[in-house]
Amino acid sequence: MSPDASGLALDYLYDANPPAGTVTEIAPGVRWLAMPLPTSLNHINLWLLDDGDGVAIIDTGIFWDASKEVWQRVFAEHLGGKKITRLIITHAHPDHIGLAGWLTETLGIEMWISTTEWEMGYRISGDEGGQIIRDSGLALYRRGGLGAEAEQLAGTRITTRIPMARVPEHYHRLQDGMELKIGARNWRVIVGRGHAPEHCCLYQPELDIFIAGDQVLPKITPNVSLWPNRSEQDPLGNFLASLDKIGRAVPDSVLVLPSHNLPFHRLHARLRQLRDHHADRLDEVVRACDTPRPAIELVPVLFHRKLDQRQMGFAMGEALAHLQHAVTQGRLKREERADGAWLFGRA
Ligand SMILES: [Zn+2]
Repeated sequence: MSPDASGLALDYLYDANPPAGTVTEIAPGVRWLAMPLPTSLNHINLWLLDDGDGVAIIDTGIFWDASKEVWQRVFAEHLGGKKITRLIITHAHPDHIGLAGWLTETLGIEMWISTTEWEMGYRISGDEGGQIIRDSGLALYRRGGLGAEAEQLAGTRITTRIPMARVPEHYHRLQDGMELKIGARNWRVIVGRGHAPEHCCLYQPELDIFIAGDQVLPKITPNVSLWPNRSEQDPLGNFLASLDKIGRAVPDSVLVLPSHNLPFHRLHARLRQLRDHHADRLDEVVRACDTPRPAIELVPVLFHRKLDQRQMGFAMGEALAHLQHAVTQGRLKREERADGAWLFGRA
């Protein structure tokens, strides 16, 4: 994800993120749990929704002791004797689903998630040797133009990966457009694509609240990566279409609850900013392709700061997503180099 100064125009409900472990009431029956993360993005926002006699959880935090300690404190001090009823997952990234196996087992509860996200989480959490993420990395770096370095760099994805508790085998399926009854209220499931293939957002009209997950974030733009060996082959096109769909389905009046940074108002302004951001990036990559180039040469065009190895993977995925979308738009064409790299030049 990349910093984005245009987030300044939004209306935030709070001045700063609360300390890790804090539980804040946001609306009647809706609470915000600040969960620590050991990454440059140092927190994830989780949500606790009143669910009849108990409380439903939205997302989990990653699989490490600090998250478990926060959860134990929540169970002991913040539920007023109520039980956790179930776990709802927006998408299968490790900060959102990493503790699903531990929570469902510890609490004896079940999980609600979309099928595509479940499949991904289940496969990756069961891949003890890290083969799946190594192979994804290898395809990414080869297609991106890293040549002989691709193999070695893909190998580092195994050692630097964020561990996940085994994702439960059984789940309840979330689908686009369905109404999920949580306590007395219906929450509409709105699927977004591009950041993850079947990411579930939740919209509740009476409370005027939109749980956005990572689909719409303030201050940073959600990562949109093309993974050459996975099914979604125009993720940026899918992401932009999802922004339009959310703009049609969710009114501007909502309070947006994003997974990172602060709750905010002015959803439609944020959707516009995200569209504009990607339109500018598309123009930049197209301009830079007067002579055919691989994605690795476009990374400095899109990212003007020094990247560590992990960020390099995201940056390469972002560059490929923009280049491929320009191909879909007919502005660029893609050719294959002898070593398998994709070269992008003017159409
Ligand atoms: Zn995510």
